[in-house]
Amino acid sequence: MNLLIIGPQASGKGTQAENLIEKFGLAHVEMGGLLRRVSKEDSELGNKVREVINSGKLLSDELVVEILNQHLSSLGRLDNILFDGFPRVLSQAQYFEKFLEKKGKKLDAVIYLTLPREITFERLANRRTCGTCGKVFNLKTKPPKKEGVCDYCGGNLVVRSDETPEKIETRLNEFEAQTLPMVTYLKQKGLVEEIDGNRPIEIIFADISERLKKRGLVKNA
Ligand SMILES: [Zn+2]
Repeated sequence: MNLLIIGPQASGKGTQAENLIEKFGLAHVEMGGLLRRVSKEDSELGNKVREVINSGKLLSDELVVEILNQHLSSLGRLDNILFDGFPRVLSQAQYFEKFLEKKGKKLDAVIYLTLPREITFERLANRRTCGTCGKVFNLKTKPPKKEGVCDYCGGNLVVRSDETPEKIETRLNEFEAQTLPMVTYLKQKGLVEEIDGNRPIEIIFADISERLKKRGLVKNA
């Protein structure tokens, strides 16, 4: 099966992606990480990506698909993949659909984790990251033993610069304006499993597994 996972910031997407990969033996194709890797490469594609990023522009759908295509060929298969971070807008989803179709493949389901806006803010407002080792804490659910100090390395705990309320607001607005139209499109295709992300991690994962089982995509969920 090929899955796509989507969800706003702090929806627990990363954790559920890890669970899916581990339990169902999927390959994780995570676009953000892939783009960062390619942008560091000394290759024609790497140069092209760097140029666009440095100019502050967004990568075109064609360029993103080119990178994805190259990565998928190196992976050597087009099955049992969890796509993450791509497609994220309607035009990409339509392009991607044709791309898979040409290869005789398809997307089997979309896991869409939902989270109320105020909960996103609450979760991120309580998040602290170690400036030294990068470990993440939560003042409510996973507080450090000593206030402001990392349990692992003794480094200072900080609010990440991309997790300020203004940045969160911008990103949530972007998600609603750009990604939700794609979700509507995929819903019309009957692909979307909408999952309430405002619950404990294990319960969310059990729910996801159950939905995949009902779709006949996995046997023992
Ligand atoms: Zn640390």
